[in-house]
Amino acid sequence: MLGQPVAERVRAQVARDVADLGNVGLATILVGDDPASEVYIGHKHKAAAEAGIRAVDKRLTGATSQDELVALIGELNADDGIDGVLVQLPLPPQIDPAAAATAIDPAKDVDGVNPVNAGLLYLGRPSLVPATPLGIMQLLDEHDVRVEGADAVVIGRSDIVGKPIAHLLLQRHATVTICHSRTRDLMQHTSRADVLVAAVGVPGMVTREMVKRNATVIDVGITRTDAGLVGDVDPSVSDIAGAMTPVPRGVGPLTIAMLLANTVRAARLKRAGTEL
Ligand code: NAD
Repeated sequence: MLGQPVAERVRAQVARDVADLGNVGLATILVGDDPASEVYIGHKHKAAAEAGIRAVDKRLTGATSQDELVALIGELNADDGIDGVLVQLPLPPQIDPAAAATAIDPAKDVDGVNPVNAGLLYLGRPSLVPATPLGIMQLLDEHDVRVEGADAVVIGRSDIVGKPIAHLLLQRHATVTICHSRTRDLMQHTSRADVLVAAVGVPGMVTREMVKRNATVIDVGITRTDAGLVGDVDPSVSDIAGAMTPVPRGVGPLTIAMLLANTVRAARLKRAGTEL
């Protein structure tokens, strides 16, 4: 299950929506000079520009205080030309990521990190949802993977992948199990899964013995190694799985596409005067 073709379709739809809407603006904030974050921000800006979204690249030094970051977020919240605000993680240690997330106007929170959006997702109400889990659902839908009634097992419980994908699967009537670092017998859970999502960051931790034949396996993990990018799922699992996403070229391309789709959604909400 390659992410790229699905991502291209989403991005083409975003470009059409942006053309319809007129001016759509996305602001990103990068604090410090983490090289990986600079690469991610670069990709996001390139993709935004290709879709016709006006992207504003705000940069703050690594010595920026939490109050200064919150003040900049406040300015962007008040800026009528900006539909979406994204703060690139990780942040330097003096800044609490939760404070940054809380400062973003929920209606402009295109990364879905504000507690209002997380709460709406928990309640199963429309909200801005983190891009990676949205991309996973898009991929499952485009490949006609049956989610209703399926046993879905999610490994990882982060706020941006594990928890939100578990909620999205639950909304679609899967029976969901969330596994994490303290789960006692991981294989006991994974081997039952019709849909298995791995979002851990431990290369190759999901092995053949852990996967049910014909399961759909979504590998979210990305670890940089000397041999290139490696996922959480051992490549030999593809012999057992009914369908599986590779790393790279699996879930990754969808994350940026869904960020752009969220920006269009935020622009629509603003024009409709809808509050989240
Ligand atoms: P994280 O790094 O915040 O947390 C990892 C999670 O894995 C935790 O919830 C922890 O409980 C769990 N875990 C750790 N060791 C485990 C073990 N041995 N058994 C079971 N669970 C274990 O998670 P994250 O930010 O969701 O990132 C996870 C991975 O996904 C990383 O490799 C990250 O780079 C990748 N990622 C990829 C994309 C994408 O676009 N493809 C987006 C976000 C994150």
